[in-house]
Amino acid sequence: MKLERKILNGLERLSEALKALLWEQAKEFGISPIQIQIVLFVSSHRIDLCNVSYLAREFNVTKATISDAVRVLVKKGYLEKDYAPTDKRRYNLVISSSGEELINQLSEYASPISEELSVFSELELSNVFDLISKLIYQLNQRDVIQVQRTCYNCIYYSGNKKNRHYCNLLNSRLKKTDIRLDCKEFEQDVDTTGIVIQ
Ligand code: SF4
Repeated sequence: MKLERKILNGLERLSEALKALLWEQAKEFGISPIQIQIVLFVSSHRIDLCNVSYLAREFNVTKATISDAVRVLVKKGYLEKDYAPTDKRRYNLVISSSGEELINQLSEYASPISEELSVFSELELSNVFDLISKLIYQLNQRDVIQVQRTCYNCIYYSGNKKNRHYCNLLNSRLKKTDIRLDCKEFEQDVDTTGIVIQ
């Protein structure tokens, strides 16, 4: 079997393991995995990203799926709607105090995987992270992954063929392990097709 195929098999298994851990947590709190993902997202992202359209692209599901999940989360008191002053049909989502409590209890859902990762060396982890971050960027360029807030897509990023990475906002060189996958300061670069990552 080709190595690419084996890696794909491995990624599938890891994805299943993460889903299973999320599902275990979901059952405990009586909410679905997508509802957990929405609460986690809203708790850690700018309010202008926390709307039905953006969440649908973020999680590669339909707006109807997100709307249903949001309706339940609002009803259970984990999220609140912040309506636009000029248009009462449009709203962004904010976390409520009950939602914050839920987040505290959910945050450890992936700890079995974190604990296993911690036994690997810095070099091994760094190489895996480098590969994953580049793979995510490349899949985003092919529209397989819809939304990315990673350095490689960011207007502030400069890179070159010697694998040097630089953030012009932070005015700082980035080691490959400093590359962010979900940066709060991220600004979409309208033309990232020219970036060479190695
Ligand atoms: S602002 Fe964030 S995403 Fe953009 S280059 Fe700097 S660290 Fe990376």
